[in-house]
Amino acid sequence: MRLFATLLAGSLLAAPALSQNFDVAALRDAALKDDVAWDITEGLTTEIGPRLAGTEAEARARAWSVARLKALGFANARIEPFDMPVWVRGEEKAEILSPFPQKLVLAALGNSGATPDDGITAEIAMFPSLAALEAADRAQVQGKIVFVDHAMGRTQDGSSYGAFGGARRKGPSIASKKGAVAIVIRSIGTDFHRNPHTGVQSWEDGASPIPAAALSLPDAEQLNRIIARGKPVTMKLTLTPRNIGTRQSGNVMAEVPGRDPSAGIVLVGCHLDSWDLGTGAIDDAAGCGIVAAAAKRVMDAGKPLRTIRVVWFGAEEVGLRGGIAYRDAHLQEKHVVLAESDFGADRIYKFDSYVNPAALPVIDALATALAPIGIARGHNQARGGSDIGPLAATGVPVVSLSQDGTRYFDLHHTPDDTLDKVDRAQLAQNVAAWTAMIATIANSPVELGPVAPTGGK
Ligand code: ZN
Ligand code: ZN
Repeated sequence: MRLFATLLAGSLLAAPALSQNFDVAALRDAALKDDVAWDITEGLTTEIGPRLAGTEAEARARAWSVARLKALGFANARIEPFDMPVWVRGEEKAEILSPFPQKLVLAALGNSGATPDDGITAEIAMFPSLAALEAADRAQVQGKIVFVDHAMGRTQDGSSYGAFGGARRKGPSIASKKGAVAIVIRSIGTDFHRNPHTGVQSWEDGASPIPAAALSLPDAEQLNRIIARGKPVTMKLTLTPRNIGTRQSGNVMAEVPGRDPSAGIVLVGCHLDSWDLGTGAIDDAAGCGIVAAAAKRVMDAGKPLRTIRVVWFGAEEVGLRGGIAYRDAHLQEKHVVLAESDFGADRIYKFDSYVNPAALPVIDALATALAPIGIARGHNQARGGSDIGPLAATGVPVVSLSQDGTRYFDLHHTPDDTLDKVDRAQLAQNVAAWTAMIATIANSPVELGPVAPTGGK
């Protein structure tokens, strides 16, 4: 196997033709003029718009997606439904009553509790970090509206989101357990527009829901300055989100059947749901456009050895529900590799893999195919983000094509996540990279596994 793989990689270096009718370099270069990804992104954001998980809008998006994937020529376009509890936003208002009366801009976090319709009024207790809140005595928090600040900065790889996102993910539960009446955080974002960044948080066992919201960065800094004047600061907060009970979500799937049905599945994914403030263009309509456009290009070039499965997952934003439902339904199927596009639409600059060392010659071939479009090879410890994470953790090979995230958290989960933020040339570079990846792996007879399970969800 190793010898064969080496020969395969060698032949790719010598001549681009990998197998019947597949000239990876030619497919890649043609994809640099792709319009399909843009058409999907434009269509989904225009004809559906915001697609909050479990809502009627997400259901319309599923119907739209099945129709579009069929029209593009994919086989077996279908919906796999699942049920979920649904939370929807209500009214959201905040104002400083004293010492310097003024309104502030914020948005509720997913699963936030509600205030009474006429709001709550309490003194602010500020913490400069999540760690400071964790270390606080109950007496500092009880009866207060907690304000958690932090210092998230830009990173190309998005690692600051993991590092600082705890203020959103864990802050509300910690504040609730210490007796806070509500929590507001500095948005997990990097822009300085008056756009709050929403996002999910979940109540830990023993934490009763309290109102939880994110201030835009300018508003968080304003609040910080007001507090720095040294007088007690009183805020009136009105948040009226609701839990509307169990509703249906679902994953949309479609396939390019392979020549050998026993050769397994190359899964390429994205998520169809979005937050409700913008139209979910960079998060994640663009990802859906990228993976479907790339799969179509390979499909149109001839029948691949392995089946390509496009999955547009549902309900990612509210806790990877689509990814978990997919893992539970498809654990027994042979997945050759998992890959997901869910980090915007800016250019891919690096890729990582998680394959058996014996299969690294396939990754060598992929590196050769990606280098001409500016993509550097990374490590072989990729874990696979968002929806593919649950299945990847059971021990399935992964390829991660990393997009430049420098401006991603300017837009992520804000009202500003709209189509005009998608750069068509960068979007097409994504399609070119994904096309090369799918063409390489779906036509290689080399097995990428086995790989060890990595654990987690
Ligand atoms: Zn996303
Ligand atoms: Zn998101």
